[in-house]
Amino acid sequence: MKKIILFVDDEQSILSAIKRLFRKSPYNILTAGNAKDALDVIRTVPISVLVSDYTMPGETGAELLAMAKSIRPEMSRIILSGNNDQEALLQSINLGSADRFLTKPWDDSELISEVDNAMAAWEEKRYTWPDKKLLNQTSFIQMVDELISEPETTNRAVIYFGVRDFENVQQLVGIEELRNFLYEISPTLNSVESSVTLAILDDNNFCGIIKLENEAASLKQKISDLIEPFLEASALDNQKISISLDVGYCVASPETASAIDLISNALTAYQHAKSSESGNYVDYQSWMSEKKNYDRIIESNLQHALKDIEFVLHYQPKINISNNTMHGAEALIRWNSKTLGMVSPFDFIHLAERSEAINDIGHWVMNEAIRQWVEWFGQSEVQPIVSVNVSPRQLKDFSFVKRVESVLQEHSIDPSRLELEITESLMVEDIKTTLKILNDIKALGVALSIDDFGTGYSSLSYLNQLPVDTLKIDRSFIFPMMESEEKRRLVKNLIRLGHDLGIDIVAEGVEDEQQLEVLKEYGCDVIQGYFYSPPVPSGDYARLIEKFPPQVADTQDFQQVGMLKSA
Ligand code: C2E
Ligand code: CA
Ligand code: CA
Repeated sequence: MKKIILFVDDEQSILSAIKRLFRKSPYNILTAGNAKDALDVIRTVPISVLVSDYTMPGETGAELLAMAKSIRPEMSRIILSGNNDQEALLQSINLGSADRFLTKPWDDSELISEVDNAMAAWEEKRYTWPDKKLLNQTSFIQMVDELISEPETTNRAVIYFGVRDFENVQQLVGIEELRNFLYEISPTLNSVESSVTLAILDDNNFCGIIKLENEAASLKQKISDLIEPFLEASALDNQKISISLDVGYCVASPETASAIDLISNALTAYQHAKSSESGNYVDYQSWMSEKKNYDRIIESNLQHALKDIEFVLHYQPKINISNNTMHGAEALIRWNSKTLGMVSPFDFIHLAERSEAINDIGHWVMNEAIRQWVEWFGQSEVQPIVSVNVSPRQLKDFSFVKRVESVLQEHSIDPSRLELEITESLMVEDIKTTLKILNDIKALGVALSIDDFGTGYSSLSYLNQLPVDTLKIDRSFIFPMMESEEKRRLVKNLIRLGHDLGIDIVAEGVEDEQQLEVLKEYGCDVIQGYFYSPPVPSGDYARLIEKFPPQVADTQDFQQVGMLKSA
């Protein structure tokens, strides 16, 4: 990393003398004639050591050092003032801005050795913790910048990693404990080679730069050297929490424009590792950035989609396994964008979730699904259930329950005909708040279903606390069911567990008769999947109502429907 010293003095002859003195030093020397110019340099160049005169036109040297300290706290700062300048000494002490106080005229060898010491102190301070080889963010970016501006950059790589499922782990053990744990297992100054440096970016994320001596063959080895300690110490404090990491990395190429580019590519690879099934090493590929750009295009188009009414709903029937009648349907959003064509919910829901947009989209879905339902079944004595997906982010909106209530009133639908599908991951995140919201929803008379059951964080322990009516066994359990007895047993147990708790079971993603027969044998209640029908546009749904006529409700439900109609 380049070591740069800035000398500030209003006397040109002094600056010239200093430049001569340091001409053969390993440092780059910059100079400025006053505090204002010096600050401009400090803001743009990563200065390691600042040496300033005290008495200058404008700000004093002590004032300059104080301002410089707030810009680059890790920089070493020295005052070089005229002899007997008591005021300079006092002010520097009061401002706490100078590390050293030297007097003119200086002794050449003393000045050189003071500057060497200041440089060594700066090296230490670049690390967030002096005993650990952990740079802070600014120093890290500087270091990467430096390394990629050298020739032959193809044997440099930036690695980005963090704790998998950080939010949940942090909830479980507390942020303090997790932070201490990560600090404990971070490399010390001696534990890794000098070619490897790590930085800590925030509570969870680490970044590292690796400089290889020769070709990239040993890159994987170096990467695992770097994260090995984190993986080895994976059980946190004897608790049953185990830590795994997601790792992304990017090898520099001659086209790598800047440190920020390289780091953000490693970050992109890390994000891919994060969303993959198993915690993994992901090597950055250029299509990942293309995907990111596509995401950006989707995000900007999304803003108009609702206003321009580009969304429609498709409906997929849920069939009662015992008698082939229609239990209900799941409303699934489709986006027919004027500029992008058909966009899958997989490609835009998670983007809408990043912003407030999901609240309005979700509200539109609920309103449209209920409107449609009343149009189809409002006059009939049989009332199947319409299910709507609710994103975790919507539930965090404090006005959510109110909005549900007003949609129900607007269409005068029996609240029990609406079911909200909520993914499991949300429920563990903040169990207390979630329980309150779910109970408020239940109080409206709306049904609740756990979506994607089995894919989230271990969940059986709190299932009995949740006011849910239905549990949807995720497609990923149904799909491999015919592969082995073991996989079938898992499904069988999930069904039994649900029934023990008085919860109905829906199996989703049922595609063939074999799966259907097994599920029937296990006592599964409701089936959703291509075997019966894929999601269809509203215009095609009448055919399905005919094919699977909804079940005539039992006496109790019947009365409710009657009451609703006469009201
Ligand atoms: P999901 O809630 O798990 O919905 C089921 C998905 O599985 C649907 O994909 C459906 O088309 C598909 N599917 C149904 N049966 C089968 C089958 O037998 N085999 C296979 N391979 N797939 C089947 P879709 O419609 O593309 O929706 C994807 C996801 O997008 C949904 O997953 C849901 O998480 C989200 N989503 C859809 N509509 C909405 C919405 O209105 N609001 C929110 N927040 N999310 C939505
Ligand atoms: Ca769903
Ligand atoms: Ca699902």
